[in-house]
Amino acid sequence: MTSDVRVRFAPSPTGTLHLGSARSALYNWLYARHFGERGTYVLRIEDTDQARSTPENVEQALRVFRWLGLDWDEGPGVEGPFGPYFQSQRDELYVASLATMRESGSAYPCFCTKEELDADRAAADAEKRPFVYTGRCRDIAREDADARIAAGDAHVIRFRCPDEGVTVVHDLVLGETTFENALIGDFVIARADGSPLYNFANVIDDSQMQITHVIRGNDHLSNTPKQILMYEALGATIPAFAHLPMVLGPDGSKLSKRKHHTSTVEQLAEAGYSSDAVRNGLALVGWSKDDTTNVMSTAELVEHFDVARVKKSSAAIDYDKLAWLNGEHLRALTPEAWAAGYEAWRDEWLPADDERHAAAHAMRGIDAAPLVQEKCATWGEVPAYVGFVLEPFMMQDEAWARLQKTGEVGVQVLEHVVPKLEALGDWELDSLEAALRGACEDLELKPGKVFSPIRFAVTGQTIAPGLWESVHVLGRDRALDRMRAARDRLAATLASA
Ligand code: GLU
Repeated sequence: MTSDVRVRFAPSPTGTLHLGSARSALYNWLYARHFGERGTYVLRIEDTDQARSTPENVEQALRVFRWLGLDWDEGPGVEGPFGPYFQSQRDELYVASLATMRESGSAYPCFCTKEELDADRAAADAEKRPFVYTGRCRDIAREDADARIAAGDAHVIRFRCPDEGVTVVHDLVLGETTFENALIGDFVIARADGSPLYNFANVIDDSQMQITHVIRGNDHLSNTPKQILMYEALGATIPAFAHLPMVLGPDGSKLSKRKHHTSTVEQLAEAGYSSDAVRNGLALVGWSKDDTTNVMSTAELVEHFDVARVKKSSAAIDYDKLAWLNGEHLRALTPEAWAAGYEAWRDEWLPADDERHAAAHAMRGIDAAPLVQEKCATWGEVPAYVGFVLEPFMMQDEAWARLQKTGEVGVQVLEHVVPKLEALGDWELDSLEAALRGACEDLELKPGKVFSPIRFAVTGQTIAPGLWESVHVLGRDRALDRMRAARDRLAATLASA
């Protein structure tokens, strides 16, 4: 017995899998997992377009799914009862179905030349009516058609559409859409060599794989009546359809590599997003549990996901929200899990020749966690925060410029704080915090005035962990050396100005 809910994601590996497709895959996966033991998630590779499909694109898509944790119950590498799961390996099935459809009269060979079709199209344009195939080859006698095929006449196979009536798509997201059959026309389902086209292979496969719910982008809505007509002609069960709103870039235009800095899952992974956060963020592009809940674990997504709550209208990705969500997910981790995630990110994405490599390795993850887990929204932000512990010490230009701006007050603060910290009996966080807060009272200055010059002095950076944490992690000698050096340099610079 197969499961009650069988869904599939069926990418065409003709390009890089972008966030919109990843979101479709996620929704299918969530839907299957929502049904637990009763749900099956199938991954099928639709590589009928052999000229544009590449093994690299397949690999990239599989990498994305693995990273996103969208494990498939049937599909490449896992196989299953309805395989193979690459359309390029399923020719026998298509050939057999084509033969059945020719037999029943629901498919026929069409020998129309490009010139004939162009002329038909021009005539339709001239009469300002939509172009629909005229049906010229519909009634060629079977023997004549076979003879022409045997003689090598170029042809395609068309599906015979009803001339009248309507086909209604009952969609779980969009509701009902009615299509007039007369406007569909007999469409091509296979090339002369018998190789199938999308609409046909898709129907044969969904039917043979016993798919119960087709959840896909609404750019496919216009294909759906054609597919329904084929299911009907084949006497096959028609699956339920759920057409998802398009995922757009933040500016409301189509997602593109050129325009949007992050259009793929891999770019998010590289930037240091956690897969939990990306699942959460992508799930919210076009769906929500209750319009108010944002941060959700994957278990919660699985529990609450329902196609009935998917929005109808296109949904723009909000990258700021995605980063915020990621920060929330990273902050919620235990320090050990945070450290493991950070180190895994660093090992994966920062090779030895990356300019951030040294900074990223300045601390073990478990030592960095108490310093920056609260502050960083992505793993990618961490190196810039923790690199200050490296030797030799580097004062960044921007930090020096800001330190210079603190002027006489900066010198005064450092002159006051150095002996104060030298006199500390221990170098514990509590003592450092008390001493540094105390310095504000001693000097009758606001915390910002006191802490900024010390921060620039000890970290040489404009972004850094908390002040006492930074001073603490450097240890007494290094922290004080840096403060003295900054004090002297700043004083000298002011004196010579
Ligand atoms: N191969 C199609 C695509 O990538 C799949 C469409 C469908 O899910 O039916 O757009």
